[in-house]
Amino acid sequence: MWKLSGKSVYKGIAVGPAAVLKKSDQQVKRRKTEDAEAEIARIREAAAAAKEQLQRLYEKAVAEVGEANAMIFEAHQMILEDEDFLEAMYHMIRTEKVNAEYAAAAAGDHFAEMFAAMDNDYMKARAADMRDITNRLIRNLSGQGDGAFLAEQPSVIIADDLSPSETVQMDKSRILAFVTVHGSANSHTAILARLMNIPALVGVPVDLEKIENGMTVIVDGMQGEVIFEPSKAALQEAQKRIAQETERAALLQELKGKENRTRSGKTVNVYANIGGVGDVGYVLENDAGGIGLFRSEFLYLGRSDAPGEEEQFQAYMQVLRMMGEKKVIIRTLDIGADKKADYLELGEEENPALGYRAIRICLKQPEIFKTQLRALFRAAMYGNLSIMYPMIISVREMQQIAAIVRQVQEELEAEGIPYRVPEQGIMIETPAAVMISDELAELADFFSIGTNDLTQYTLAIDRQNARLDDFYDPHHPAVLQMIRMTVESAHRHGKWAGICGEIGADLELTEEFLKMGVDELSVSPAMVLELRRRIREIE
Ligand code: PEP
Ligand code: MG
Repeated sequence: MWKLSGKSVYKGIAVGPAAVLKKSDQQVKRRKTEDAEAEIARIREAAAAAKEQLQRLYEKAVAEVGEANAMIFEAHQMILEDEDFLEAMYHMIRTEKVNAEYAAAAAGDHFAEMFAAMDNDYMKARAADMRDITNRLIRNLSGQGDGAFLAEQPSVIIADDLSPSETVQMDKSRILAFVTVHGSANSHTAILARLMNIPALVGVPVDLEKIENGMTVIVDGMQGEVIFEPSKAALQEAQKRIAQETERAALLQELKGKENRTRSGKTVNVYANIGGVGDVGYVLENDAGGIGLFRSEFLYLGRSDAPGEEEQFQAYMQVLRMMGEKKVIIRTLDIGADKKADYLELGEEENPALGYRAIRICLKQPEIFKTQLRALFRAAMYGNLSIMYPMIISVREMQQIAAIVRQVQEELEAEGIPYRVPEQGIMIETPAAVMISDELAELADFFSIGTNDLTQYTLAIDRQNARLDDFYDPHHPAVLQMIRMTVESAHRHGKWAGICGEIGADLELTEEFLKMGVDELSVSPAMVLELRRRIREIE
Protein backbone atom coordinates (compact mmCIF):
# COMPACT_ATOMS: atom_id res chain seq x y z
CA MET A 1 0.00 0.00 0.00
CA TRP A 2 1.25 3.50 -0.79
CA LYS A 3 -0.32 6.94 -0.72
CA LEU A 4 -0.02 10.16 -2.66
CA SER A 5 -1.65 13.54 -2.06
CA GLY A 6 -3.23 15.95 -4.49
CA LYS A 7 -5.75 18.76 -4.73
CA SER A 8 -9.31 17.65 -4.41
CA VAL A 9 -11.80 19.04 -6.90
CA TYR A 10 -14.74 16.93 -5.80
CA LYS A 11 -15.07 15.70 -2.28
CA GLY A 12 -16.30 12.17 -2.72
CA ILE A 13 -14.72 8.83 -2.07
CA ALA A 14 -14.38 5.90 -4.47
CA VAL A 15 -12.72 2.50 -4.65
CA GLY A 16 -12.03 0.61 -7.84
CA PRO A 17 -9.57 -0.72 -10.39
CA ALA A 18 -7.10 1.68 -11.97
CA ALA A 19 -7.23 2.44 -15.69
CA VAL A 20 -4.19 4.33 -16.88
CA LEU A 21 -4.90 6.66 -19.71
CA LYS A 22 -1.86 7.66 -21.67
CA LYS A 23 -2.11 10.95 -23.53
CA SER A 24 -1.78 9.36 -26.94
CA ASP A 25 -4.84 7.21 -26.22
CA GLN A 26 -7.12 10.12 -26.91
CA GLN A 27 -5.73 12.24 -29.69
CA VAL A 28 -5.94 11.80 -33.41
CA LYS A 29 -3.68 13.99 -35.49
CA ARG A 30 -4.23 14.75 -39.16
CA ARG A 31 -1.17 13.82 -41.21
CA LYS A 32 -0.52 13.95 -44.94
CA THR A 33 0.24 10.64 -46.59
CA GLU A 34 1.77 9.97 -49.99
CA ASP A 35 0.84 6.30 -50.05
CA ALA A 36 -2.96 6.15 -49.82
CA GLU A 37 -3.12 2.41 -50.56
CA ALA A 38 -0.81 1.67 -47.63
CA GLU A 39 -3.10 3.63 -45.29
CA ILE A 40 -6.12 1.74 -46.65
CA ALA A 41 -4.32 -1.53 -46.00
CA ARG A 42 -3.76 -0.36 -42.40
CA ILE A 43 -7.50 0.25 -42.02
CA ARG A 44 -8.23 -3.27 -43.32
CA GLU A 45 -5.77 -4.75 -40.86
CA ALA A 46 -7.10 -2.71 -37.93
CA ALA A 47 -10.67 -3.67 -38.81
CA ALA A 48 -9.75 -7.37 -38.97
CA ALA A 49 -8.06 -7.12 -35.56
CA ALA A 50 -11.10 -5.29 -34.19
CA LYS A 51 -13.40 -8.07 -35.40
CA GLU A 52 -11.30 -10.66 -33.61
CA GLN A 53 -11.33 -8.63 -30.40
CA LEU A 54 -15.08 -8.26 -30.67
CA GLN A 55 -15.53 -11.97 -31.24
CA ARG A 56 -13.63 -12.66 -28.01
CA LEU A 57 -15.72 -10.08 -26.18
CA TYR A 58 -18.86 -11.64 -27.62
CA GLU A 59 -17.92 -15.09 -26.36
CA LYS A 60 -17.01 -13.73 -22.93
CA ALA A 61 -20.29 -11.82 -22.76
CA VAL A 62 -22.38 -14.84 -23.82
CA ALA A 63 -20.85 -16.77 -20.95
CA GLU A 64 -21.27 -14.01 -18.41
CA VAL A 65 -24.45 -12.16 -19.30
CA GLY A 66 -26.23 -14.31 -21.83
CA GLU A 67 -26.69 -14.21 -25.57
CA ALA A 68 -29.22 -11.38 -25.72
CA ASN A 69 -26.88 -8.97 -23.95
CA ALA A 70 -23.88 -10.12 -25.95
CA MET A 71 -25.53 -9.24 -29.28
CA ILE A 72 -24.14 -5.76 -29.15
CA PHE A 73 -20.67 -7.10 -29.94
CA GLU A 74 -22.06 -8.88 -32.97
CA ALA A 75 -23.62 -5.64 -34.11
CA HIS A 76 -20.26 -3.91 -33.74
CA GLN A 77 -18.65 -6.56 -35.92
CA MET A 78 -21.29 -5.91 -38.56
CA ILE A 79 -20.53 -2.18 -38.57
CA LEU A 80 -16.93 -3.08 -39.35
CA GLU A 81 -18.13 -4.86 -42.48
CA ASP A 82 -20.42 -2.05 -43.56
CA GLU A 83 -19.52 -0.97 -47.10
CA ASP A 84 -20.63 2.65 -46.64
CA PHE A 85 -18.51 3.08 -43.54
CA LEU A 86 -15.44 1.45 -45.08
CA GLU A 87 -15.83 3.32 -48.36
CA ALA A 88 -16.15 6.65 -46.53
CA MET A 89 -12.73 6.06 -44.95
CA TYR A 90 -11.08 4.83 -48.15
CA HIS A 91 -12.50 7.71 -50.14
CA MET A 92 -11.19 10.26 -47.68
CA ILE A 93 -7.71 8.72 -47.68
CA ARG A 94 -7.59 8.69 -51.47
CA THR A 95 -8.96 12.17 -52.09
CA GLU A 96 -7.57 14.09 -49.14
CA LYS A 97 -4.38 12.06 -48.68
CA VAL A 98 -4.86 11.78 -44.92
CA ASN A 99 -3.66 9.13 -42.49
CA ALA A 100 -5.81 6.15 -41.55
CA GLU A 101 -6.41 7.31 -37.95
CA TYR A 102 -7.75 10.64 -39.12
CA ALA A 103 -10.00 9.08 -41.76
CA ALA A 104 -11.41 6.67 -39.17
CA ALA A 105 -12.09 9.47 -36.70
CA ALA A 106 -13.74 11.68 -39.32
CA ALA A 107 -15.88 8.92 -40.85
CA GLY A 108 -16.85 7.68 -37.38
CA ASP A 109 -17.93 11.18 -36.36
CA HIS A 110 -19.90 11.65 -39.53
CA PHE A 111 -21.83 8.39 -39.14
CA ALA A 112 -22.35 8.94 -35.42
CA GLU A 113 -23.85 12.34 -36.11
CA MET A 114 -26.08 10.93 -38.77
CA PHE A 115 -27.46 8.39 -36.32
CA ALA A 116 -27.77 10.98 -33.56
CA ALA A 117 -29.93 13.18 -35.80
CA MET A 118 -32.43 10.40 -36.58
CA ASP A 119 -35.98 10.51 -35.26
CA ASN A 120 -36.07 6.96 -34.06
CA ASP A 121 -34.68 6.48 -30.51
CA TYR A 122 -33.18 3.12 -31.35
CA MET A 123 -31.27 4.54 -34.31
CA LYS A 124 -30.18 7.53 -32.24
CA ALA A 125 -28.59 5.19 -29.74
CA ARG A 126 -26.47 3.70 -32.52
CA ALA A 127 -24.37 6.90 -32.50
CA ALA A 128 -22.63 5.64 -29.36
CA ASP A 129 -21.89 2.31 -31.08
CA MET A 130 -20.35 4.14 -34.01
CA ARG A 131 -18.07 6.07 -31.64
CA ASP A 132 -17.13 2.93 -29.78
CA ILE A 133 -16.20 1.15 -32.99
CA THR A 134 -14.22 4.10 -34.31
CA ASN A 135 -12.26 4.35 -31.05
CA ARG A 136 -11.46 0.66 -31.25
CA LEU A 137 -10.22 1.09 -34.83
CA ILE A 138 -8.06 4.04 -33.84
CA ARG A 139 -6.62 2.16 -30.86
CA ASN A 140 -5.70 -0.70 -33.16
CA LEU A 141 -4.22 1.63 -35.77
CA SER A 142 -2.00 3.32 -33.23
CA GLY A 143 -0.99 0.05 -31.59
CA GLN A 144 -2.67 0.74 -28.25
CA GLY A 145 -4.28 -2.64 -27.83
CA ASP A 146 -7.99 -3.23 -27.67
CA GLY A 147 -8.66 -0.96 -24.68
CA ALA A 148 -11.04 -3.61 -23.44
CA PHE A 149 -10.15 -2.87 -19.86
CA LEU A 150 -11.48 0.65 -20.01
CA ALA A 151 -14.49 -0.47 -21.94
CA GLU A 152 -15.42 -3.30 -19.65
CA GLN A 153 -15.69 -2.01 -16.12
CA PRO A 154 -16.08 1.20 -14.13
CA SER A 155 -12.59 2.41 -13.26
CA VAL A 156 -10.50 5.05 -11.57
CA ILE A 157 -9.00 6.98 -14.49
CA ILE A 158 -5.36 7.87 -13.90
CA ALA A 159 -3.83 10.26 -16.42
CA ASP A 160 -1.09 12.75 -16.86
CA ASP A 161 -3.63 15.43 -17.64
CA LEU A 162 -7.08 15.61 -19.17
CA SER A 163 -8.37 18.32 -21.44
CA PRO A 164 -12.04 19.31 -21.31
CA SER A 165 -12.56 17.71 -24.71
CA GLU A 166 -11.06 14.42 -23.56
CA THR A 167 -13.17 14.48 -20.41
CA VAL A 168 -16.36 15.35 -22.20
CA GLN A 169 -15.97 12.35 -24.52
CA MET A 170 -15.70 9.83 -21.72
CA ASP A 171 -18.48 7.48 -20.85
CA LYS A 172 -19.45 8.80 -17.43
CA SER A 173 -20.99 5.55 -16.32
CA ARG A 174 -17.56 3.92 -16.52
CA ILE A 175 -15.65 6.45 -14.42
CA LEU A 176 -15.43 6.01 -10.66
CA ALA A 177 -12.89 8.79 -10.09
CA PHE A 178 -10.20 10.86 -11.78
CA VAL A 179 -6.59 11.22 -10.69
CA THR A 180 -4.31 13.46 -12.74
CA VAL A 181 -0.68 14.44 -12.40
CA HIS A 182 -1.25 17.93 -13.78
CA GLY A 183 -4.28 20.18 -13.95
CA SER A 184 -5.59 23.04 -11.89
CA ALA A 185 -8.47 22.87 -9.45
CA ASN A 186 -10.21 25.68 -11.35
CA SER A 187 -9.95 24.25 -14.83
CA HIS A 188 -12.87 23.08 -16.91
CA THR A 189 -11.79 19.50 -16.41
CA ALA A 190 -12.24 20.01 -12.68
CA ILE A 191 -15.61 21.59 -13.33
CA LEU A 192 -16.60 18.57 -15.40
CA ALA A 193 -15.58 16.23 -12.58
CA ARG A 194 -17.83 18.16 -10.22
CA LEU A 195 -20.59 18.04 -12.76
CA MET A 196 -20.24 14.32 -13.15
CA ASN A 197 -20.42 14.01 -9.41
CA ILE A 198 -17.29 11.92 -9.12
CA PRO A 199 -14.30 12.15 -6.79
CA ALA A 200 -11.36 13.80 -8.49
CA LEU A 201 -7.85 14.76 -7.49
CA VAL A 202 -5.44 16.84 -9.56
CA GLY A 203 -1.74 17.55 -9.02
CA VAL A 204 -1.01 14.01 -7.81
CA PRO A 205 2.69 13.20 -8.39
CA VAL A 206 2.03 9.68 -9.65
CA ASP A 207 4.43 7.80 -11.89
CA LEU A 208 2.12 6.36 -14.54
CA GLU A 209 4.66 3.68 -15.42
CA LYS A 210 4.25 2.22 -11.92
CA ILE A 211 0.51 1.83 -12.19
CA GLU A 212 -0.93 -1.30 -13.65
CA ASN A 213 -4.40 -1.45 -15.09
CA GLY A 214 -6.66 -3.24 -12.65
CA MET A 215 -4.65 -2.33 -9.55
CA THR A 216 -7.02 -1.40 -6.69
CA VAL A 217 -7.11 2.28 -5.82
CA ILE A 218 -8.93 4.37 -3.22
CA VAL A 219 -9.54 7.99 -4.21
CA ASP A 220 -10.38 10.05 -1.17
CA GLY A 221 -11.53 13.49 -2.27
CA MET A 222 -12.12 14.55 1.32
CA GLN A 223 -8.56 13.98 2.51
CA GLY A 224 -7.06 14.74 -0.91
CA GLU A 225 -5.37 11.35 -1.01
CA VAL A 226 -4.99 8.42 -3.38
CA ILE A 227 -4.14 5.04 -1.89
CA PHE A 228 -2.70 2.40 -4.22
CA GLU A 229 -2.95 -1.31 -3.41
CA PRO A 230 -4.67 -0.53 -0.09
CA SER A 231 -4.43 -2.81 2.93
CA LYS A 232 -7.50 -4.74 4.04
CA ALA A 233 -8.03 -2.28 6.89
CA ALA A 234 -7.79 0.74 4.55
CA LEU A 235 -10.28 -0.89 2.19
CA GLN A 236 -12.72 -1.58 5.03
CA GLU A 237 -12.38 2.01 6.25
CA ALA A 238 -13.07 3.32 2.74
CA GLN A 239 -16.13 1.07 2.36
CA LYS A 240 -17.41 2.35 5.70
CA ARG A 241 -17.01 5.94 4.60
CA ILE A 242 -18.70 5.25 1.28
CA ALA A 243 -21.63 3.85 3.24
CA GLN A 244 -21.71 6.99 5.43
CA GLU A 245 -21.65 9.17 2.32
CA THR A 246 -24.53 7.21 0.85
CA GLU A 247 -26.46 7.71 4.07
CA ARG A 248 -25.72 11.45 4.10
CA ALA A 249 -26.91 11.67 0.50
CA ALA A 250 -30.07 9.81 1.47
CA LEU A 251 -30.74 12.35 4.25
CA LEU A 252 -30.40 15.18 1.75
CA GLN A 253 -33.10 13.49 -0.33
CA GLU A 254 -35.59 14.59 2.31
CA LEU A 255 -35.01 18.17 1.20
CA LYS A 256 -36.44 17.47 -2.22
CA GLY A 257 -39.55 19.51 -2.87
CA LYS A 258 -38.69 21.91 -0.04
CA GLU A 259 -38.09 25.62 -0.53
CA ASN A 260 -34.74 27.39 -0.59
CA ARG A 261 -35.89 29.61 2.27
CA THR A 262 -33.94 31.00 5.21
CA ARG A 263 -35.44 30.93 8.72
CA SER A 264 -36.43 34.57 8.34
CA GLY A 265 -38.24 33.84 5.11
CA LYS A 266 -35.82 35.03 2.44
CA THR A 267 -35.81 32.83 -0.65
CA VAL A 268 -33.25 32.41 -3.39
CA ASN A 269 -33.33 30.39 -6.60
CA VAL A 270 -31.04 27.39 -6.63
CA TYR A 271 -30.31 26.26 -10.17
CA ALA A 272 -27.84 23.80 -11.64
CA ASN A 273 -24.99 24.01 -14.17
CA ILE A 274 -24.81 21.52 -17.01
CA GLY A 275 -22.54 20.70 -19.94
CA GLY A 276 -24.94 18.75 -22.13
CA VAL A 277 -28.24 16.97 -22.55
CA GLY A 278 -26.88 14.01 -20.59
CA ASP A 279 -26.68 16.08 -17.40
CA VAL A 280 -30.35 17.05 -17.26
CA GLY A 281 -31.15 13.82 -15.44
CA TYR A 282 -28.91 14.91 -12.55
CA VAL A 283 -30.59 18.32 -12.49
CA LEU A 284 -34.04 16.79 -12.10
CA GLU A 285 -32.83 14.11 -9.72
CA ASN A 286 -31.43 16.78 -7.42
CA ASP A 287 -34.53 18.94 -7.63
CA ALA A 288 -32.86 22.09 -8.99
CA GLY A 289 -35.26 24.94 -9.74
CA GLY A 290 -33.80 25.39 -13.21
CA ILE A 291 -30.62 25.37 -15.22
CA GLY A 292 -28.56 28.47 -14.49
CA LEU A 293 -25.72 27.70 -16.90
CA PHE A 294 -25.67 25.32 -19.84
CA ARG A 295 -22.09 25.54 -21.13
CA SER A 296 -23.09 25.15 -24.79
CA GLU A 297 -19.47 25.00 -25.97
CA PHE A 298 -19.22 21.45 -24.68
CA LEU A 299 -21.34 20.52 -27.71
CA TYR A 300 -18.45 21.79 -29.84
CA LEU A 301 -15.67 19.84 -28.13
CA GLY A 302 -14.19 16.44 -28.88
CA ARG A 303 -15.25 16.31 -32.52
CA SER A 304 -13.89 17.15 -35.94
CA ASP A 305 -16.37 19.84 -37.01
CA ALA A 306 -18.81 22.28 -35.47
CA PRO A 307 -22.34 21.10 -34.64
CA GLY A 308 -24.77 22.42 -37.22
CA GLU A 309 -27.99 24.33 -36.58
CA GLU A 310 -30.17 21.24 -36.61
CA GLU A 311 -27.99 19.28 -34.20
CA GLN A 312 -27.85 22.23 -31.80
CA PHE A 313 -31.58 22.84 -32.09
CA GLN A 314 -32.26 19.19 -31.20
CA ALA A 315 -29.96 19.38 -28.16
CA TYR A 316 -31.44 22.64 -26.83
CA MET A 317 -34.99 21.52 -27.52
CA GLN A 318 -34.42 18.25 -25.71
CA VAL A 319 -33.07 20.05 -22.62
CA LEU A 320 -36.01 22.48 -22.65
CA ARG A 321 -38.56 19.71 -23.04
CA MET A 322 -37.03 17.72 -20.22
CA MET A 323 -37.07 20.77 -17.95
CA GLY A 324 -40.75 21.57 -18.69
CA GLU A 325 -41.67 24.98 -17.27
CA LYS A 326 -38.42 25.41 -15.40
CA LYS A 327 -35.99 28.07 -16.56
CA VAL A 328 -33.05 27.01 -18.72
CA ILE A 329 -30.24 29.52 -19.25
CA ILE A 330 -28.02 28.60 -22.15
CA ARG A 331 -24.73 30.41 -22.44
CA THR A 332 -23.67 31.09 -26.02
CA LEU A 333 -20.43 29.61 -27.25
CA ASP A 334 -17.52 30.23 -24.86
CA ILE A 335 -14.78 28.43 -26.70
CA GLY A 336 -11.10 29.38 -26.58
CA ALA A 337 -8.62 29.56 -23.68
CA ASP A 338 -8.53 25.99 -22.29
CA LYS A 339 -11.45 24.83 -24.47
CA LYS A 340 -9.99 24.09 -27.86
CA ALA A 341 -11.54 22.82 -31.07
CA ASP A 342 -9.02 22.27 -33.86
CA TYR A 343 -11.56 22.75 -36.62
CA LEU A 344 -12.20 26.36 -35.56
CA GLU A 345 -8.53 27.09 -36.29
CA LEU A 346 -8.22 29.54 -33.44
CA GLY A 347 -4.43 29.46 -33.64
CA GLU A 348 -1.78 29.48 -30.97
CA GLU A 349 -1.74 32.46 -28.66
CA GLU A 350 0.73 33.75 -26.14
CA ASN A 351 -1.98 34.47 -23.57
CA PRO A 352 -5.03 32.38 -24.46
CA ALA A 353 -6.98 33.38 -21.35
CA LEU A 354 -6.63 36.99 -22.51
CA GLY A 355 -7.13 36.01 -26.10
CA TYR A 356 -9.51 35.08 -28.81
CA ARG A 357 -12.34 33.45 -26.91
CA ALA A 358 -16.08 33.47 -26.23
CA ILE A 359 -18.04 36.45 -27.51
CA ARG A 360 -14.93 37.74 -29.28
CA ILE A 361 -14.99 34.75 -31.61
CA CYS A 362 -18.73 35.08 -32.10
CA LEU A 363 -18.46 38.73 -33.09
CA LYS A 364 -15.46 38.18 -35.37
CA GLN A 365 -16.95 35.06 -36.99
CA PRO A 366 -20.66 35.93 -36.97
CA GLU A 367 -21.59 32.88 -39.08
CA ILE A 368 -20.74 30.61 -36.13
CA PHE A 369 -22.74 32.86 -33.81
CA LYS A 370 -25.73 33.14 -36.12
CA THR A 371 -25.99 29.37 -36.48
CA GLN A 372 -26.16 29.05 -32.71
CA LEU A 373 -28.64 31.91 -32.31
CA ARG A 374 -30.93 30.41 -34.97
CA ALA A 375 -30.88 27.10 -33.13
CA LEU A 376 -31.56 28.84 -29.81
CA PHE A 377 -34.39 31.03 -31.09
CA ARG A 378 -36.08 28.03 -32.69
CA ALA A 379 -35.65 25.95 -29.54
CA ALA A 380 -37.11 28.79 -27.44
CA MET A 381 -40.55 27.69 -28.67
CA TYR A 382 -40.26 24.52 -26.60
CA GLY A 383 -39.72 25.79 -23.06
CA ASN A 384 -38.63 28.52 -20.67
CA LEU A 385 -35.38 29.55 -22.33
CA SER A 386 -33.05 32.43 -21.51
CA ILE A 387 -29.67 32.94 -23.12
CA MET A 388 -26.60 34.77 -21.91
CA TYR A 389 -23.41 36.11 -23.42
CA PRO A 390 -19.97 35.29 -21.96
CA MET A 391 -16.93 37.53 -21.44
CA ILE A 392 -18.66 40.83 -22.16
CA ILE A 393 -16.51 43.92 -21.60
CA SER A 394 -18.33 46.75 -23.35
CA VAL A 395 -21.61 48.36 -24.34
CA ARG A 396 -20.40 48.24 -27.94
CA GLU A 397 -20.31 44.45 -27.87
CA MET A 398 -23.91 44.42 -26.66
CA GLN A 399 -24.88 46.72 -29.54
CA GLN A 400 -23.13 44.43 -32.02
CA ILE A 401 -24.91 41.43 -30.52
CA ALA A 402 -28.25 43.25 -30.77
CA ALA A 403 -27.62 43.89 -34.49
CA ILE A 404 -26.84 40.21 -35.10
CA VAL A 405 -29.91 39.17 -33.12
CA ARG A 406 -32.03 41.41 -35.35
CA GLN A 407 -30.52 39.88 -38.48
CA VAL A 408 -31.22 36.37 -37.25
CA GLN A 409 -34.79 37.37 -36.42
CA GLU A 410 -35.33 38.83 -39.87
CA GLU A 411 -33.92 35.75 -41.55
CA LEU A 412 -36.09 33.36 -39.56
CA GLU A 413 -39.10 35.61 -40.19
CA ALA A 414 -38.44 35.64 -43.95
CA GLU A 415 -38.05 31.86 -44.01
CA GLY A 416 -41.30 31.45 -42.09
CA ILE A 417 -39.60 29.39 -39.37
CA PRO A 418 -41.28 29.55 -35.94
CA TYR A 419 -39.02 31.21 -33.36
CA ARG A 420 -38.96 33.34 -30.23
CA VAL A 421 -36.26 35.72 -29.02
CA PRO A 422 -35.67 34.65 -25.43
CA GLU A 423 -34.61 36.73 -22.41
CA GLN A 424 -31.01 37.81 -22.85
CA GLY A 425 -28.54 38.13 -20.00
CA ILE A 426 -24.93 39.17 -19.61
CA MET A 427 -22.27 37.15 -17.86
CA ILE A 428 -20.23 39.36 -15.59
CA GLU A 429 -16.79 37.81 -15.74
CA THR A 430 -14.44 40.74 -16.18
CA PRO A 431 -13.64 43.71 -13.94
CA ALA A 432 -14.58 45.88 -16.93
CA ALA A 433 -18.11 44.50 -16.94
CA VAL A 434 -18.42 45.13 -13.20
CA MET A 435 -17.25 48.72 -13.53
CA ILE A 436 -19.83 49.47 -16.25
CA SER A 437 -22.50 47.20 -14.80
CA ASP A 438 -24.87 50.14 -14.41
CA GLU A 439 -24.85 50.74 -18.16
CA LEU A 440 -24.89 47.05 -19.00
CA ALA A 441 -27.91 46.51 -16.74
CA GLU A 442 -29.94 48.71 -19.06
CA LEU A 443 -29.09 46.41 -21.97
CA ALA A 444 -29.69 43.06 -20.32
CA ASP A 445 -32.59 41.19 -18.78
CA PHE A 446 -30.34 39.75 -16.06
CA PHE A 447 -26.77 39.28 -14.91
CA SER A 448 -25.05 36.00 -14.16
CA ILE A 449 -21.71 36.38 -12.42
CA GLY A 450 -19.02 34.02 -13.68
CA THR A 451 -16.81 34.11 -10.63
CA ASN A 452 -14.30 31.61 -12.03
CA ASP A 453 -13.18 34.08 -14.66
CA LEU A 454 -13.97 37.13 -12.55
CA THR A 455 -11.51 35.84 -9.95
CA GLN A 456 -8.92 35.09 -12.63
CA TYR A 457 -9.14 38.55 -14.18
CA THR A 458 -9.50 40.47 -10.94
CA LEU A 459 -6.50 38.82 -9.29
CA ALA A 460 -4.47 38.48 -12.52
CA ILE A 461 -4.13 34.76 -11.83
CA ASP A 462 -4.40 32.19 -14.62
CA ARG A 463 -7.05 29.73 -13.43
CA GLN A 464 -5.31 27.02 -15.47
CA ASN A 465 -1.98 27.37 -13.73
CA ALA A 466 -1.80 24.72 -11.02
CA ARG A 467 1.16 26.46 -9.39
CA LEU A 468 -1.07 29.40 -8.60
CA ASP A 469 -3.91 27.46 -7.01
CA ASP A 470 -2.86 28.73 -3.60
CA PHE A 471 -3.09 32.33 -4.81
CA TYR A 472 -6.38 31.87 -6.65
CA ASP A 473 -8.74 33.13 -3.95
CA PRO A 474 -12.39 33.63 -4.84
CA HIS A 475 -12.90 34.87 -1.24
CA HIS A 476 -10.59 37.83 -1.93
CA PRO A 477 -12.32 41.04 -0.76
CA ALA A 478 -11.88 42.51 -4.25
CA VAL A 479 -13.85 39.63 -5.79
CA LEU A 480 -16.60 39.86 -3.18
CA GLN A 481 -16.83 43.62 -3.67
CA MET A 482 -17.19 43.06 -7.44
CA ILE A 483 -20.07 40.66 -6.82
CA ARG A 484 -21.74 43.17 -4.51
CA MET A 485 -21.40 45.99 -7.05
CA THR A 486 -22.85 43.84 -9.80
CA VAL A 487 -25.89 42.83 -7.75
CA GLU A 488 -26.52 46.45 -6.75
CA SER A 489 -26.30 47.66 -10.36
CA ALA A 490 -28.75 44.98 -11.48
CA HIS A 491 -31.23 45.83 -8.74
CA ARG A 492 -31.03 49.56 -9.43
CA HIS A 493 -32.40 48.74 -12.88
CA GLY A 494 -34.98 46.25 -11.73
CA LYS A 495 -33.00 43.27 -13.05
CA TRP A 496 -31.96 40.12 -11.22
CA ALA A 497 -28.43 38.85 -10.63
CA GLY A 498 -27.14 35.35 -10.00
CA ILE A 499 -23.84 33.58 -9.57
CA CYS A 500 -22.96 30.65 -11.82
CA GLY A 501 -19.26 30.28 -11.03
CA GLU A 502 -18.06 27.52 -8.71
CA ILE A 503 -18.10 29.87 -5.72
CA GLY A 504 -21.91 29.73 -5.78
CA ALA A 505 -21.62 26.34 -4.10
CA ASP A 506 -19.23 27.58 -1.42
CA LEU A 507 -21.31 27.09 1.72
CA GLU A 508 -19.08 29.43 3.73
CA LEU A 509 -20.25 32.29 1.55
CA THR A 510 -23.94 31.44 1.21
CA GLU A 511 -24.98 33.77 4.03
CA GLU A 512 -22.93 36.61 2.61
CA PHE A 513 -24.42 36.13 -0.86
CA LEU A 514 -27.91 36.28 0.60
CA LYS A 515 -27.03 39.48 2.46
CA MET A 516 -25.77 40.97 -0.81
CA GLY A 517 -29.15 40.19 -2.33
CA VAL A 518 -27.99 37.60 -4.87
CA ASP A 519 -31.17 36.28 -6.50
CA GLU A 520 -29.92 32.97 -7.86
CA LEU A 521 -27.10 30.52 -7.24
CA SER A 522 -26.33 28.02 -9.96
CA VAL A 523 -24.17 25.11 -8.86
CA SER A 524 -23.24 21.62 -9.95
CA PRO A 525 -26.30 19.35 -9.66
CA ALA A 526 -24.71 17.36 -6.84
CA MET A 527 -24.54 20.52 -4.70
CA VAL A 528 -28.16 21.62 -5.06
CA LEU A 529 -29.56 19.85 -2.01
CA GLU A 530 -26.47 20.61 0.09
CA LEU A 531 -26.92 24.29 -0.71
CA ARG A 532 -30.63 24.08 0.12
CA ARG A 533 -29.73 22.59 3.49
CA ARG A 534 -27.35 25.47 4.16
CA ILE A 535 -29.88 28.13 3.11
CA ARG A 536 -32.53 26.63 5.37
CA GLU A 537 -30.31 26.87 8.45
CA ILE A 538 -29.44 30.55 7.89
CA GLU A 539 -31.27 33.08 10.09
C1 PEP B 1 -17.15 31.45 -14.82
O1 PEP B 1 -16.21 31.97 -15.41
O2 PEP B 1 -17.35 31.59 -13.59
C2 PEP B 1 -18.11 30.62 -15.56
C3 PEP B 1 -19.24 30.22 -15.00
O3 PEP B 1 -17.78 30.22 -16.81
P1 PEP B 1 -16.63 29.13 -17.13
O4 PEP B 1 -16.20 28.53 -15.83
O5 PEP B 1 -17.20 28.15 -18.05
O6 PEP B 1 -15.58 29.99 -17.74
MG1 MG C 1 -16.19 31.99 -17.58
